[in-house]
Amino acid sequence: MRILFPKFDKIGMPLLGVAAAAFFLLETKRQLRSRTRPRPERLLENGSVAATALPALRLLLVPAMFAAARLANKHRFGLLKRLGLPQWVRYTAGFLLLDYTNYLWHVLLHKSDILWRFHNVHHIDLDLDLSTAWRFHVGENIASVPYRSVAIALLGVPAPLVLFYEVIFEGCTAFHHSNLRLPYQVERQLCKVMVTPRMHGIHHSIVARETNSNFSVIFSWWDRLHQSLRLNVPQDEITIGVPAYRDPKEQSVKHLFLMPFERQRPWHLPDGTVPERVAHSPQEELLP
Ligand SMILES: [Zn+2]
Repeated sequence: MRILFPKFDKIGMPLLGVAAAAFFLLETKRQLRSRTRPRPERLLENGSVAATALPALRLLLVPAMFAAARLANKHRFGLLKRLGLPQWVRYTAGFLLLDYTNYLWHVLLHKSDILWRFHNVHHIDLDLDLSTAWRFHVGENIASVPYRSVAIALLGVPAPLVLFYEVIFEGCTAFHHSNLRLPYQVERQLCKVMVTPRMHGIHHSIVARETNSNFSVIFSWWDRLHQSLRLNVPQDEITIGVPAYRDPKEQSVKHLFLMPFERQRPWHLPDGTVPERVAHSPQEELLP
């Protein structure tokens, strides 16, 4: 299995680094939601979780997806390959379909009890910012290897596109997790096409109905298609996290690693109440 991808490492990764640095500075200057915990503590916790998840992504997930695409192409296997489409159509359709499979994977992370155990580590963060974008349990990244590789093979996606998509996917993940306050009117237009910080903030709410919406990664169309889009929640009314995990002491690196193997708590606050919210406007109307 090929491990070295010179263009990905020499162009894609530095570009991602520049984008991340820009989002970090921008979310410091133009904060969207107020913080509940000190930033350095969270950087340490989220950085420690990412320190195992990112090597798994680069050394296992990316090579496996690339190998799946190569193998499928070699045997003329996979939908896009078999249709004999012009190259630009294959690339465009491949990009869109890859994004759709990642929408479905995100839904699965929330619906499957076993996958949620791992994805919950990402969701119990009590604040949402750039550092949350890489706070994924290593188990979640490993679990995505067979899913994403098989999806790529079945679709017959060109191998170079897998690497290109991954760079855009990571850049968009960094963007929509960031705590960056975009001008409201700009974001209202932007979220018609792509996932934005306000839109993804709703996905990290402690209200179950809101967490179970906005699953898209790059294009917001998939949520529209499946009627899982929810924009009518003002950001200053959102409490970030999962209701049964409100204690900041549970954000220790040790607990974050062990959490998937513990009993999962039901979706209510420590006092037993279930967070709810009355919607004021249509579901598809972005509020500031
Ligand atoms: Zn999620």
